[in-house]
Amino acid sequence: MNKKMFVVSRDKKEALELSSQNKNVGYVKENNITFYPDDISIVMKESETLLNDLNSHDIVEICDNGKLYKWYSSKDGDAGIATTPKCNSNCIMCPAFDFERQKNPEMDINDMINFIRLFPKSLYHFTITGGEPTLIGEEHFCKVLKTVSETLPYTEVLLLTNGRSLAKENFFRHIIKILPNNFRVAIPIHGSDAQKHDYIVQSENAFDQTLKGIYNVLKAGIFLELRIVVSKLNKDDITNIAKLIIDKFPEVGIVHFIGLEMRGNCIIYRDDTIISYEEAFKSSAIAIDMLLNAGINVGLYNFPYCMIDRYYWPIAQKSISAYKSKFYEECNECIMKEQCCGLFTTSKAFLKPKVTPIGGKYD
Ligand code: SF4
Repeated sequence: MNKKMFVVSRDKKEALELSSQNKNVGYVKENNITFYPDDISIVMKESETLLNDLNSHDIVEICDNGKLYKWYSSKDGDAGIATTPKCNSNCIMCPAFDFERQKNPEMDINDMINFIRLFPKSLYHFTITGGEPTLIGEEHFCKVLKTVSETLPYTEVLLLTNGRSLAKENFFRHIIKILPNNFRVAIPIHGSDAQKHDYIVQSENAFDQTLKGIYNVLKAGIFLELRIVVSKLNKDDITNIAKLIIDKFPEVGIVHFIGLEMRGNCIIYRDDTIISYEEAFKSSAIAIDMLLNAGINVGLYNFPYCMIDRYYWPIAQKSISAYKSKFYEECNECIMKEQCCGLFTTSKAFLKPKVTPIGGKYD
């Protein structure tokens, strides 16, 4: 078993219990870490600050230089794995830079398996993402799925994919045999036809492949989430995308409208991509109503409450990972702060959107 990655416990009894389940455990007390099952203790000096910050069930790696790197924070939630930074699309509004997708290192498959095995069975949600997570190849992707299925039998497992690999019949036939019990797939549709979708993802035939992948997912009875990332490029096409979904995929489990994360390609192509969250919401309102009227569930990701109509607050979700989410000073006066997704750190720095605290003196 890989010794570099371990699950944290601040309780010695629990540490021994976890170790008996074949997990690498680091029992943390003051500035000491005792590793089980080896029963080796080390004193951490330079990383004391992070050590104080560690909670039971965090997953941490000791790097070769002796520094600690936290892979999973049990306090923030957000459990998941990015299997590869690579992608077979290159979406114009992608929050990753193209060079990150090409050059960032891929996790070794054995490290992926060891990492997944460190999560507790009681975990509520786990995301498999990338880049495009299926690009690690069929054999490795099946290993990841199988490990998740065995380690997390009660967990809701979400695969974030562009759907193109799921169009391949052989690949799809193999993966559906080993899917976790509570499995769902989220696939984005960027345009209502091939020309618009393929332009945004900068890849030929992507639209046809994605639609085929969606058909396969629905035919197999897997819970499907469709995503519409709203940018300047598709804001006038949103109602057409909703119509496409209603006509072709009425069995979809939920459609999420996504506000932009302003970094990576999205910033490089800012003149083509960036619109305010208010404008993105306004461009989506008719499409949201169409879908709801057709009996399809709808959710909003990355839209702060003060930037959308109150009528739609019940479908706005706290979607931004804690480590990426920022608020303004004024937000402290907002009665919705606890439930609000806030703003991406990068979007806040780039667009500087104006917030209007709700229920405060500005409301
Ligand atoms: S004022 Fe801040 S906390 Fe309140 S809805 Fe807007 S962004 Fe969210």
